[in-house]
Amino acid sequence: MSETDAIIVGSGPIGAVLARALATRQKSVLILESGGAISAPPGTHLRNQLLYQQHPDRFFEEIGRWCQFFNDKVPPSGLPGANQSEAVGGQSLIWTNNCPRPTAYLEQLDFLDQRDWELRLLEAEKLLRVHSSLFDHSIRQARVESWLKKHIPQRQVTKLPLAAERLQDGTLSFTATRDILDSKACASKVTVQERTRVVRFEHSGSRIQGLVAEDANGTQRKYHANNYVIAGGVFATPKLLYNSGIRPPALGQYLHFHPLSMSQIVLDQELSAPEQIADPPPRLYLPPSASHPWHAMILRDFFPIRSPEGVHENRMIELQFFAPVEVRRENRMILDSSEPRFEVTLTKNDEDLLRRMVEDQHELVKLLGHFRDQCAPFFVPPGMSHPMGTCRMGEDPSSSVADTKGRVHGFHNLFLAGASLIPFPIAVNPTLTCAAIALETAANVE
Ligand SMILES: Cc1cc2nc3c(=O)[nH]c(=O)nc-3n(C[C@H](O)[C@H](O)[C@H](O)COP(=O)(O)OP(=O)(O)OC[C@H]3O[C@@H](n4cnc5c(N)ncnc54)[C@H](O)[C@@H]3O)c2cc1C
Repeated sequence: MSETDAIIVGSGPIGAVLARALATRQKSVLILESGGAISAPPGTHLRNQLLYQQHPDRFFEEIGRWCQFFNDKVPPSGLPGANQSEAVGGQSLIWTNNCPRPTAYLEQLDFLDQRDWELRLLEAEKLLRVHSSLFDHSIRQARVESWLKKHIPQRQVTKLPLAAERLQDGTLSFTATRDILDSKACASKVTVQERTRVVRFEHSGSRIQGLVAEDANGTQRKYHANNYVIAGGVFATPKLLYNSGIRPPALGQYLHFHPLSMSQIVLDQELSAPEQIADPPPRLYLPPSASHPWHAMILRDFFPIRSPEGVHENRMIELQFFAPVEVRRENRMILDSSEPRFEVTLTKNDEDLLRRMVEDQHELVKLLGHFRDQCAPFFVPPGMSHPMGTCRMGEDPSSSVADTKGRVHGFHNLFLAGASLIPFPIAVNPTLTCAAIALETAANVE
């Protein structure tokens, strides 16, 4: 028996959630992370710096520095937006922290008992420090919310939960890996070892016997534990399985993602905040529903385009709409010895949904104000937001990679965690859902 109960590959938010859940059960955990520390203290959100609290648009440049695109020149069927981040904390250092619960499509997770699922979501919200009241004092939020409730009473308009806490000085502390690991149990049970890339697993029969990892100098050594979890993100997780000779038929397939349509709006005067007030940004959303099956966020976060139209901050908001695409076997990540490549096409249903989603964005703007010059809806490159499903979970090993607890089919002590497991189309930001699934997995690690 090894002294380490579990090795987790990857120190992103999902690896951290798993580590914390295991540490709480008195399990010793070693997290191996290929990246180094890029924030101070290591694993904290880069956005907590005062610069970005005061100038949110400048955070866009920071994100760009830490996203490694596989090939941003390929056509959309090759997913030009597909990227990953290597760092202590993974993409929790740059994420936008929106954490709504899955809604319209939740019933498709029918292999989890509803009551257990509810408890997992609650626990995940606690670990990610999710709050819905952080922007209650935003004048724009109050005005836009009541205006929309009055003019589109048939739709739900509600506060968008955020993984963050407001500090005494009024600034926000955005949740990242370090906050998730901030517990007594983690201090004594969890070690994060940076600049250590897991190269492959060694296995015999249904057991992983160890793994080989490489340090920053290229020196390889073996590590052993009783259990192994890969939480390496949607692209590195299937790649590591492939490189280890673990190649179930569904590996890399059923890839889905969120086409993201963004725009920036100049609010009508009566919905804006007075210019002399430092108005906090709003954060609302219209949850996906049967009639509008997309995730419509109304916020002021950051916007990549510099518009020539000068507008006071208190009149600005952004719309970010995500649509779920159909989950199909044909949409896949090609796994071979080269850099990840992709084959993804949208169906007619997908195209129709995206068209309706953009029309909806135009309709909302008619109620709120006008698009800022040059900021009308545009789609970000496909694959950029929320890739999912390359190692989907399910009961049937011919169409899934892991079982409904995240355990790789055919293995006793190898688990997966993260958005690669998500087998169904969800419309909302996926990290809270992934964290809840990871907690279910952690409960099943012996
Ligand atoms: C700009 C941006 C905004 C986002 N906003 C939101 C949002 O508002 N809400 C939301 O729900 N989601 C959002 N996301 C998505 C969210 O960041 C991811 O869902 C989340 O980070 C996934 O966590 P993870 O731990 O599974 O993977 P990651 O965060 O990708 O971490 C994986 C880690 O594993 C490491 N790793 C990989 N392979 C190996 C290996 N072989 N050996 C050792 N280490 C390895 C990587 O270096 C990385 O650090 C956003 C993402 C981005 C980029």
